[in-house]
Amino acid sequence: MNAPLIVLGAGPAGLAAAEAASASGQAVLLVDENGAPGGQIWRGGPQRWRDARAAALWDALRARPHVSFMAGARVVAPAGPQALLLETADGALAQPWNKVIVCSGARELLLPFPGWTLPGVTGAGGLQALVKGGMPLAGKRVLVAGTGPLLLAVAATVCEHGGEVVAVAEHRASADLARFGARLALSHRGKLLQSVQMAARLRGVPYLRGAALLAAEGRGRLERVLLRHRGREQAVDCDFLACGFGLVPSLELAALFGCVVEQGRVAVDAAQRSSAPGVWAAGESTGIGGVDKALAEGRIAGLDAVGLAPHARDLRSRGKAQAFGALLAQAFAPLPSLRRLCTASTIVCRCEDVVAADLAPHAGWRSAKLQTRAGMGPCQGRVCGSACAFLYGWEAPGLRQPVFPACAATLALARTERVDTVARAHPESRQQRTS
Ligand SMILES: Cc1cc2nc3c(=O)[nH]c(=O)nc-3n(C[C@H](O)[C@H](O)[C@H](O)COP(=O)(O)OP(=O)(O)OC[C@H]3O[C@@H](n4cnc5c(N)ncnc54)[C@H](O)[C@@H]3O)c2cc1C
Repeated sequence: MNAPLIVLGAGPAGLAAAEAASASGQAVLLVDENGAPGGQIWRGGPQRWRDARAAALWDALRARPHVSFMAGARVVAPAGPQALLLETADGALAQPWNKVIVCSGARELLLPFPGWTLPGVTGAGGLQALVKGGMPLAGKRVLVAGTGPLLLAVAATVCEHGGEVVAVAEHRASADLARFGARLALSHRGKLLQSVQMAARLRGVPYLRGAALLAAEGRGRLERVLLRHRGREQAVDCDFLACGFGLVPSLELAALFGCVVEQGRVAVDAAQRSSAPGVWAAGESTGIGGVDKALAEGRIAGLDAVGLAPHARDLRSRGKAQAFGALLAQAFAPLPSLRRLCTASTIVCRCEDVVAADLAPHAGWRSAKLQTRAGMGPCQGRVCGSACAFLYGWEAPGLRQPVFPACAATLALARTERVDTVARAHPESRQQRTS
């Protein structure tokens, strides 16, 4: 019980896992690269939370002296067989681990189209994160485009912060959306109610079904977006374009422990145990399913990690949330027609400026990397990897260590032999970044 259980990621899954494990008296160290807990959905820190579940979890954790929260610490690589290399704003440290719960969440699937690299074009969740982080939007015109329910959540955030949503352009046709609504009415009434409430908050905002994004245009920054809707091309003037085509699990941390990944997500058993001994996984990293899935899986993992059986209500809640995730995946899977957004001259790898015409002739990542440098920039294929999986059916490029860009001084610490105590790298040498 003395060695802390390490929970990586303080989103809903990580908070739930830390709470469930620490209720037994187990020492827990919660680590997140963000400066505040909450992950994606509860971004902005406890003072901004409106969800009672977030506040209840955080209050419980703060009241337990055997729980510590290390904010602003990014896990970048292993530091020996049983230690992790963490980078912080003032240096780096090697943190030994015994048991770990990986709750690393998801990121957006970004698909290339002409003009997507213009300033003013962001991911849908990306714009939401910027706004929640304080970026002013008052008076700005925002077009939200792509597919899936996240578009509505993002449009609502824009309206709440004084922005004008000029339209929500949903790629799926009315018939697909009606089928999804009918499935919700049948087995997920709570979610249907949430969508109706969300739609009410967006009253007056045009919701274009079956709308295809064609291009973003502007001199130096975004000025207008070209759409095709009901067979007609139209130009929509706007200051921001927030595009969402779905989410993909973040697998870097699981890769550090050698966890088996199946169908793009960390494979876990009924107790949320991964294939790696002493490593559990919960939340979006095990499959996209939303906050309820993250909370239930986090609690199950936290209890199992301290040798306790899961609660029946968490098992029920996980089952329902996983079914919702499967329904979402089916209803809003990116349509093959989205591949046509990307023309021959569209940049696909934005770190290395590699266009589609240079990538398309390759059979897979290996030859594309060798001959074009695609996927070899600072993002290490985090953006273009998922895009190429969709465009060309390539398997995502393998992850190499460090799994995130890190300072040279941080990496030097990984090479030290003694990692059984927490050691600090020299903070003054943080200037040298390497990928
Ligand atoms: C951009 C974006 C916006 C979203 N917006 C909404 C929304 O408005 N409404 C909604 O219902 N759902 C939204 N979602 C879905 C939402 O993420 C999930 O429903 C829920 O937050 C998943 O919880 P989680 O704990 O699994 O992951 P997350 O909440 O993503 O938490 C993962 C945490 O792990 C941390 N982490 C990852 N890697 C490292 C590392 N190497 N070192 C240290 N820390 C690390 C991250 O900083 C993050 O805090 C959004 C998702 C994304 C990606």
